[in-house]
Amino acid sequence: MAWDFETDPEYQKKLDWVAEFVRTEVEPLDLIYPNPYDRRHPEIRALMKPLQQKVKDQQLWACHLGPELGGPGYGQLKLALLNEVLGTSMWAPLVFGCQAPDSGNAEILAHFGTPEQQAKYLRPLLDGEIGSCYAMTEPTGGSDPTAFRTRAVRDGDEWVINGEKWFNSAAEFATFHIVMAVTDPEAPPHQRLSMFIVPADAPGLEIVKNFTVPGFSEHEGHLRFTDVRVPADALLGTEGLGFIVAQTRLGGGRVHHAMRTVALVRKAFDMMCERAVSRPMRKGVLGGLQMTQEKIADSWIEMEQFRLLVLRTAWRIDKEQDYLKVRHDIAAIKVAMPKVMHDIAQRAMHLHGAIGVSTDLPFTDMMTYAQIMAIADGPTEVHKITLAREVLKAYAPGDPVYPSGYRPALVEEARQLVAERLEHTIANL
Ligand SMILES: Cc1cc2nc3c(=O)[nH]c(=O)nc-3n(C[C@H](O)[C@H](O)[C@H](O)COP(=O)(O)OP(=O)(O)OC[C@H]3O[C@@H](n4cnc5c(N)ncnc54)[C@H](O)[C@@H]3O)c2cc1C
Repeated sequence: MAWDFETDPEYQKKLDWVAEFVRTEVEPLDLIYPNPYDRRHPEIRALMKPLQQKVKDQQLWACHLGPELGGPGYGQLKLALLNEVLGTSMWAPLVFGCQAPDSGNAEILAHFGTPEQQAKYLRPLLDGEIGSCYAMTEPTGGSDPTAFRTRAVRDGDEWVINGEKWFNSAAEFATFHIVMAVTDPEAPPHQRLSMFIVPADAPGLEIVKNFTVPGFSEHEGHLRFTDVRVPADALLGTEGLGFIVAQTRLGGGRVHHAMRTVALVRKAFDMMCERAVSRPMRKGVLGGLQMTQEKIADSWIEMEQFRLLVLRTAWRIDKEQDYLKVRHDIAAIKVAMPKVMHDIAQRAMHLHGAIGVSTDLPFTDMMTYAQIMAIADGPTEVHKITLAREVLKAYAPGDPVYPSGYRPALVEEARQLVAERLEHTIANL
């Protein structure tokens, strides 16, 4: 029997250390520097480095990676429990070396990068020395890979890239971009695309705009590529492999967002409960009213359901070691995440009255964040389709007219069974 809902005591000690460290040393920095992605900012750098060293001393640096890449190789379940703490702070993922989009980009480089690409980009990325950007979405479309227009054309020993990408997180502070481009427009949709590593200072690459999204610390870059030339060895993996590389990255990214969202949901819930037991009413406190109690009960159930689904998904990734086998679990938490976040943040906001809708409390940001989670890494609709398709694969077609639960047919079967049993019993008397 291996169904166990407890954290092993050794790891729990580490989590307790993390909770105290994040609360006292990391979270206060969010209030002063809300966008910690600028590694060149002298104050951010000076504050970040000693904190990162403390994390490394605790063997908690880059927990999403194995020892060969400088992480402890804890796996996704332990990472999920860690992210439940880190998710409340914008600085914390950077202090622990597991921030998006770098964590996903590091996974791609680890899986598909050549030794030269790994030495040049992966090593300094893992050491927290440089930042990276993932450039897939385009103004013409993000959910549908056939909508991508950015082209990479081979010219001698080089590739020439032209096109536009947007909503590329932390582009302004990236040293390099991982760029998805069409290399063979005539190939089947999933073989048209390839991935390239493009240095941020490549001639012809410009940032047209940095979008600000409430509830998100980093800006989202709009990039334009005009005859950007990269050497032939800038290709990641092989030509036409872009879609597969993207799936490797996005599977992990979605799970990590869900893990961090558990932390934010818990924060909204804790604030709601604190308010309920504190706010005096004509009689007693807010939490004494049944309608408040209903909000708390509904929120607790939704939060715990979501958390368990996230933890089980993380556990399944560790077990299967293959994101494709866990596709529908990942799609399910991707769909659940925005709804749970939105509903609990909305209730918490409402119970706080006027101060709840102000920017001094985090609820309006949380509600926008919920909408972002319903879009980033693919919209809810697409993940519902993935989930339903995967689930339906397990079912064989039955009678097209009478459903398998049709009672008269079942009663007839049961009668026959009973008759056979009785006959057998009588024969053996
Ligand atoms: C904060 C933030 C950070 C992001 N970071 C990055 C990043 O770092 N790198 C990157 O490349 N991208 C990033 N994105 C982009 C994100 O991945 C895309 O926004 C997402 O894939 C959706 O693409 P789209 O915006 O083009 O919307 P569209 O694809 O145009 O979809 C719009 C809407 O159409 C509907 N729809 C679409 N497809 C279907 C379907 N098959 N069935 C039913 N309805 C459908 C849905 O309602 C959907 O919400 C980020 C986005 C945000 C908001």
